[in-house]
Amino acid sequence: MIIAGMTKMRRPIIAGNWKMYKTISEALEFVRAFKSLVVAATHCDIVIAPPFTAVKALADRLDGSNVEIGAQDVAAEAGPGAFTGEVSASMIKEAGARWAIIGHSERRQYYSETDQTVNAKIRAALAAGLSPIVCVGERLNDRDEGRAEQVVDGQMAGGMRNLTVSEATSIIIAYEPVWAIGTGRTATPQTAQQMHAFIRSRVSAMFGDSVAGGTRILYGGSVKPDNAATLMEQDDIDGALVGGASLEAESFARIVNYKDQR
Ligand code: PEP
Repeated sequence: MIIAGMTKMRRPIIAGNWKMYKTISEALEFVRAFKSLVVAATHCDIVIAPPFTAVKALADRLDGSNVEIGAQDVAAEAGPGAFTGEVSASMIKEAGARWAIIGHSERRQYYSETDQTVNAKIRAALAAGLSPIVCVGERLNDRDEGRAEQVVDGQMAGGMRNLTVSEATSIIIAYEPVWAIGTGRTATPQTAQQMHAFIRSRVSAMFGDSVAGGTRILYGGSVKPDNAATLMEQDDIDGALVGGASLEAESFARIVNYKDQR
C-alpha cells in the first residue's frame, strides 16, 4: 500500500483541454502570446489539447518549445479502416501530438463512451506511442449518495482492465469530478487529495507500489489561476487538467506558473 504523503518526485503536468473551441488561426494566435509567458517554466510538462483540426499546425509551431500537444480523444480502433469520422491514434501521433485525453466525462455523457471504450482507446493510444490521460470522476448524485470512490474504482478497473505493468506505467490519470467541470465549483484541496490518494491506492492494488508511486494524477474541475497553487500543494495531486481557464493565454500561463501565484 502506498502511503499518502510519500515524497513527491513526480514531474507535474499542466494540461489544457480546449474542447470545441478555437479555429486554427485562433489557436496560433493563442500560442503567439502563450509561448513567451511560459518560456521559463521548467518545473512541469505543459500540454495543450486543441481540436483535431489544429493539432498539426500547433505541433509545428511549438516544435522545439516546452509546450507539447495532445488530442482530446482517439479512435478505439487502431485502423486504418472504414470508420467514418474517426481519427486514429497513429494519425494523431504523426500530426505531432504526444498525449491523448481519453474518457473525458463529456465523451462518456454525450457520446455514450463506456469503460470498455476507454480501455480500447487506451490500448490504441499506447500502441501508437501516445501517452493517455485517462479521465475518471463521479457525478454529483454519486458523491451525495456516498458512492464517489466506488464509481471511480469501477471506472479505473474497467478502463485499465488487463493492461500490463509496463503499459500502466505510461498512463496519466485525471480525476475530474463531473460536478466541478465548467461549473466554477472546485473540489476543495482536501476532497481532491482524498480521492487522489484513493486512486493511487487502487493503482497500487492493480499494478503494484512502484507503478503507483510514479503515476501522475491530475486534478480537473474549475482549476483557475487563484486555486491552482493550493491544489498543487497536495501530496497526491501531480498536475491539472484545465478546461475554461486554458482558453485564454494569460490565465493558462498563470496556472502553469502556479508557484508564482502563492
Ligand atoms: C475539463 O473540461 O476537463 C475541465 C476540467 O473543465 P473546467 O476547467 O472548465 O472545469
